[in-house]
Amino acid sequence: MTTVASYETTGYASNGKDAAFVRHHFKRNTAGPKQIEFDVKFCGVCHSDIHHADGDLGPVPYPIVPGHELAGIVTAVGKDVTRFKVGDQIGVGCMVEACLDCSQCEKSNENYCKNGFTGTYGDKPKRDMIWTDMECTQGGYSEKMTIDERMAIKIPDGFPLASAGPVMCSSITLYTPLKRFGCLEGGKKIGIVGVGGLGCAGLNLAMAMGKGNKVYAISRNGDKREHCLNTMKTDGFIARDNPEDMAKNAGTFDVIINTVSCKTPAMDLVALLDVGGSVVFEGLVTEPVEFKAMPLFKEKSITGSVIGGIKNTQEVMDFVHLHKLYPNIEIITADKIDEIYTKLRAGNNDGALRYVLDIEASREVVMG
Ligand SMILES: [Zn+2]
Ligand SMILES: [Zn+2]
Repeated sequence: MTTVASYETTGYASNGKDAAFVRHHFKRNTAGPKQIEFDVKFCGVCHSDIHHADGDLGPVPYPIVPGHELAGIVTAVGKDVTRFKVGDQIGVGCMVEACLDCSQCEKSNENYCKNGFTGTYGDKPKRDMIWTDMECTQGGYSEKMTIDERMAIKIPDGFPLASAGPVMCSSITLYTPLKRFGCLEGGKKIGIVGVGGLGCAGLNLAMAMGKGNKVYAISRNGDKREHCLNTMKTDGFIARDNPEDMAKNAGTFDVIINTVSCKTPAMDLVALLDVGGSVVFEGLVTEPVEFKAMPLFKEKSITGSVIGGIKNTQEVMDFVHLHKLYPNIEIITADKIDEIYTKLRAGNNDGALRYVLDIEASREVVMG
C-alpha cells in the first residue's frame, strides 16, 4: 500500500446499535492530481445509514462514520481538476470510487461498475484512488473529505446547501427509472408506490417532468389521499386496499415505481399496468417477491435499479434546482444523532422529512 500525504479530520462514529455516537479522529489523504478536498457543511441522515451502522446488512468494521449525502465547499483542488475550483459548492452521494474504465462506467453508469463501486462508508477501498491509507471508507458525518472530481456532483450556485444531500440519494433513485421509462418526454401515466421520502421525491420529480404526465400516488390505504391530492397536488390517488380504486385504474399505467422497503405483492401492481408497462422495484426488500408469468404476457415487465450514475445525478441536481424541488429537511446537530436514529428505527417519521446534520454547528456540542 502506498503512503500518501494525509490530514486529520473529525467525524461522528457509531460503535454499534447499543452504543452512543462518539467523536472519531481519522485521516484522509491529501488531494491527488484529479482530486478535491472540501469542507463538509451538511450531511443527510438516511434510513439506510441506520441499517448499515446497526449491522443489519452485514458485519461492520467499527468505528464507522456513516453518511452518504454530503454537501460542502471546495477548499483545495489537484492540478488536473477541471470541473471545480476553490469556493464551489460540491456534493458526494453513495459512491466514492468506480473503475471509470469498464463498459458501464463508460456510459456513466458508475452505479453498475463491472468492478463494483466503492460505497461512501463502511466499504473496502479497491483502487487506491481516494482512501490510500484507510482500511474502510468513512462517510459524511465528518468535517472534511477528499474525492476524485469524476465522482463529485456540482451543486449549482444558489442551491440551498443544506437541502442538497438527499438529492444524491432519494431523488436520484427515482430519477433513474423515471428517465429510463421516458417520463422526461411526457405523456406517461406514472404510479409511485409509497408516500415516504423516496415516494415524495418521485412524485415531485414526475410532476415536474414532461408535459402530459399523469402522476398517481399509490398507498396501502386511504390515509394519505387528502395529503397527496390537495397538498402535493398529484393527479390521482390509489388505495391498494380499495378494490374500486384498483379496478378503475387496471391496465392503464406506463410505469409504476415501488419505493416501499418491505415485501409488497407484485402482481396487483402488474394488473395496473398497460400493455408494455413496467413495475420498478426501488425499496430495499430482502424477502422473495412472488410473481406469475401469464399476466406478464402483455409485454409487461418487473425490473429494478439502484441510485444512479454520476451524469444522471448531476442532471437531477440541476433539475431539482431548476424546478425548486428542494427536499423538505430538518437540521440537527451531532448530539441529536442517537435520538434521531431511535426515532427512525421505530419508524416514527413523517417519511417526506429528511434530517440533515449541520457539521459546523456540531463542532462545539457535547457528545453522549
Ligand atoms: Zn441516503
Ligand atoms: Zn467501472
